[in-house]
Amino acid sequence: MTICNFTPLAREVLEKRYLARNYRGEIIETPDELFSRVAGVVAGADRLFDAGASVRKTAARFEEALTSLSFLPNSPCLMNAGRPLGQLAACFVLPVEDNLESIFQSLKDSALIHRTGGGTGFSFGRLRPSGDTIFPASGVTGGPVSFIQLFDAATHLIDRNRVRPGANMGVLPVSHPDIRDFVTVKRDRRLLGNFNLSVAVDDGFIACVKAGRDYPLIHPRTGAVVDRLSAAELLAEMARSAWETGDPGILFLDRINRANPTPVIGRLEATNPCGEQPLLPYESCTLGSINLSRIVNDEAVDCEKLESLVHLAVHFLDNVVEVNRHPVTQTEEWSRMNRKIGLGVMGFADMLILLGIPYQSERAVVLAEEIMACIQRSAVAASGELAARRGNFPAFHQSVFPARGVKRRRNATLTTVAPTGTISLLAGASSSVEPVFAFEVQRRIGNEIFMDEHPIYARYRQEGRPIDPGIFQTAWEVPPHWHLKIQAAFQKYTDNAVSKTVNLPEHITEEQVRELFLQAADMNLKGITVYRDKSLPDQILSACSLK
Ligand code: UDP
Repeated sequence: MTICNFTPLAREVLEKRYLARNYRGEIIETPDELFSRVAGVVAGADRLFDAGASVRKTAARFEEALTSLSFLPNSPCLMNAGRPLGQLAACFVLPVEDNLESIFQSLKDSALIHRTGGGTGFSFGRLRPSGDTIFPASGVTGGPVSFIQLFDAATHLIDRNRVRPGANMGVLPVSHPDIRDFVTVKRDRRLLGNFNLSVAVDDGFIACVKAGRDYPLIHPRTGAVVDRLSAAELLAEMARSAWETGDPGILFLDRINRANPTPVIGRLEATNPCGEQPLLPYESCTLGSINLSRIVNDEAVDCEKLESLVHLAVHFLDNVVEVNRHPVTQTEEWSRMNRKIGLGVMGFADMLILLGIPYQSERAVVLAEEIMACIQRSAVAASGELAARRGNFPAFHQSVFPARGVKRRRNATLTTVAPTGTISLLAGASSSVEPVFAFEVQRRIGNEIFMDEHPIYARYRQEGRPIDPGIFQTAWEVPPHWHLKIQAAFQKYTDNAVSKTVNLPEHITEEQVRELFLQAADMNLKGITVYRDKSLPDQILSACSLK
């Protein structure tokens, strides 16, 4: 049996966020019991498909993968499996139609989802612009930005005393008449603390930027062109806001929809809060991540271990779709129709350090592609095998797969690179595909501050091994373009999207941010988010010295 090997920070995070508590708030399980609870509940789904299934064997395999910190599902799964809430997905998208019933229905649904630790994304693009008339009452609307503030206030209220703050993504198409308000709203730092914002940009807009042309603003209700804006000026405004505050990011919506597995059912208009999971309205997705630092043996990648972990993870995540208990009926129906899952990675930077490869190198880019291609290929095989026993996902015949000659697919999407903000702390791994933020770091979790040393760095130091600055490179030392190259390498073999924050040094200019946005558009990315050091007063991570 594998013994859990937690860092001191992981123990803190476990106690504060994950271990089950009784109604008096006392912890009532050990970390081993947590993993055994999750593995048992998720393995239980096997029984639904195969009367002779050995649930106990499956549970033991799942438990081994969790306990060895080789694979972890997203936080709601660890927190809620076998517990009263029972909701296991991290990502949801809800519809916002241009009427009060729809707006307040989704406001309520988002509250119910936040209570379970899920994050919600919305496109506000259908809402009529500010100043537009409201029928039958004679009056005018405040437009999308005012309604986003309503959702933000609700999130803030239900957030108090919760272990996982509610998170939201607000999306507005670049052609919406209120786009300038949307792009600049977070410059007032008191506003929208619970929202990430993304501008949904299409290929036409990027072409207008490059050609120095204006582009049309379109009334969402009537389809009429109401104004024209300089595309280059709007992009510059976006860059200025992102330089100042980190928001907005960009979603490249045409690229996202070219990868939509079910275009007949609907167009993808929004993502979950961190941008890695485009979803149709009412869809949800459970994410899971393989810890790449665990597949390095004797300074080489253990491909067989990676493949077998992918098979296990796809089995695990497909079971999650089955046992998940949704607080909203429609999200259950839609999520079961496409059965989207999102398998990704954490510990990529750790893997590079263990292999002696600089993050900023072509070798790292090639390795990123090889790793993700292997995960994608094995996930397709695993989903096909599951489909042979359990059936294709219900919307398979409305999907792009039959026309491509695919016969079996259990899940409309398989891969997503999540930020792994909390589960990477639990695994003691570098987060997602990010370079290490700092090897000695000060971290704010809720209201508390933790000082922490990167585990591999600490080990090298204790063993007196040389700390080669080329290998031990921090996020700030990696030039911005290389962040994008690694993101693009992972995106190439990822069905959904790759969550990546391009961490920028404090001295970068607005113009350089604008350039990066254009580079991202040319690199076939699905989105881009930047963050300039010290641009927010309550930054979660900062470099420190532990000596
Ligand atoms: N998320 C959320 N609230 C949070 C952190 C994350 O709702 O405080 C959701 C959001 O949809 C995000 C997704 O969980 O995009 C995955 O985030 P991450 O990988 O950081 O989550 P973890 O599983 O590590 O907690």
